[in-house]
Amino acid sequence: MNRSSRIFPKINPSSLRVRLTIGIAVFSALGLGSLATWTSWKMEQLLINSHKANIEQIASRLPFDVEVYSQMLPIQTALEKAVNNRATIDTLLWITNQNNSIVAKSSNLNPLSDTSAPELIALTKMPVKAQVYHIKGRSYVLCGGELKVQGQILGKISIAQDITRDQTMFVAMVQNVGIYTILVIIFISVGIAFYIRHSLQPLRQISRMTEAIQAEDLGEARLYLSNAPSEVKELAQTVNMMLSRLSEAWEKERQFTSNISHELRTSLTIVHGYLQSILRRQQNLTEIQKEALSTAASEAERTIQILQDLLDLVRADSGYLQLNMEPCILDNIVIEVVSMAQQNSSREILIEIENNPITIKADSNRIKQILLNLIDNAVKYSNPDTPINLQLKQLSNQVIIQICDKGFGIPLQHQSRIFERFYRVDAARTRTAGTGLGLSIVKTLVEKMGGSISVRSKLGEGTMFTISLPC
Ligand code: ADP
Repeated sequence: MNRSSRIFPKINPSSLRVRLTIGIAVFSALGLGSLATWTSWKMEQLLINSHKANIEQIASRLPFDVEVYSQMLPIQTALEKAVNNRATIDTLLWITNQNNSIVAKSSNLNPLSDTSAPELIALTKMPVKAQVYHIKGRSYVLCGGELKVQGQILGKISIAQDITRDQTMFVAMVQNVGIYTILVIIFISVGIAFYIRHSLQPLRQISRMTEAIQAEDLGEARLYLSNAPSEVKELAQTVNMMLSRLSEAWEKERQFTSNISHELRTSLTIVHGYLQSILRRQQNLTEIQKEALSTAASEAERTIQILQDLLDLVRADSGYLQLNMEPCILDNIVIEVVSMAQQNSSREILIEIENNPITIKADSNRIKQILLNLIDNAVKYSNPDTPINLQLKQLSNQVIIQICDKGFGIPLQHQSRIFERFYRVDAARTRTAGTGLGLSIVKTLVEKMGGSISVRSKLGEGTMFTISLPC
């Protein structure tokens, strides 16, 4: 993982972390958004209602004011005084008679200073209950009523309160609240993302630990989590119990395979021995009988080899595969193996040794087994007229053995799996008998001796197995 992908890991939409983060972020956005919207709407209502209450109160008080002033002043002067007394910078008042002509108006209702004044005055029907009107881009709360003094109707009162300034301030405040809400949502989402990531750490730990468990170490493999939440600890415990059960089952299976292979191999070895001795000693056998007996002997031998491979694999799994590691000269082993292989096949095997003698510490019998297996495969999976090459070279701290054939090759998609137990590439294609155990035993043995094996192959051109062993 490079630095940038560690800081900004790739977002996987189906991961629990992304789902939880998106879910919580959406819910907090909806919650905070609706709270902010509701608060703004409520505040707007409060603001408008307070204006409405204010002008409704003026409308109800004005007749009393006129009545009081009219006792001291002429009626026209009393009207003007009462109207101007109640007017403020934003509150406009005017009184009209039956013919809708203005009889008195507050001094701030001036068409020159207020462009909406003519339209306000032109409104013939004023609502008794205060209402909001929008005129020429400005907002007004309007309210009207009758001017009744001492039981006599003198005209109609009209009151308009300009609330544009308050509304502008309110809109600015709502915008600010909106911006803060968005910032808070982003902040919360980032915080939640980190928190969830941290909380899911134990799960990732479990996944890393279980990934590293191999069939061979099922017995000792246990998940240990120190600072995990109790639910995750419970999960780890359940996995541990499952590992114990798997380990027991695996052990039983190994035991079973080991016992059965051992028993069968012993009996078959005896059968094979008898068959060989009959073939050697009985001179009066017919050709058909001889052929039948040698087929039975070679099948018994092949089965003994399979059982031996199975036993080796089971022993390697349980850690009981004993290797007799001692210094040996590899050149001699290779030459011996090639001559052994040529006893069973007439195939041309070319040996190329770059620098000799090469001495390594290994189990010479196992090296022979490995090479015989690979040569046997090279013979099986190539045409009889093509040669097999065996190369041996020494590098600074390792020895390389290469077995090449010019055979059918292995399709790319199978190359990574051929070392698995019982894995065979399309048997029909190669038309040869086999068990799929050969390469897995080769790999196990090479690795037990501290080496490694790899394959390079091209369909129709051939295959090359490379073994590298430490010097
Ligand atoms: P087996 O030979 O008994 O089938 P192995 O484990 O030895 O089992 O090999 C696994 C598979 O790998 C074989 O079935 C064969 O398809 C493929 N394979 C192995 N060696 C070669 C080779 N030299 N050329 C082509 N295919 C090979």
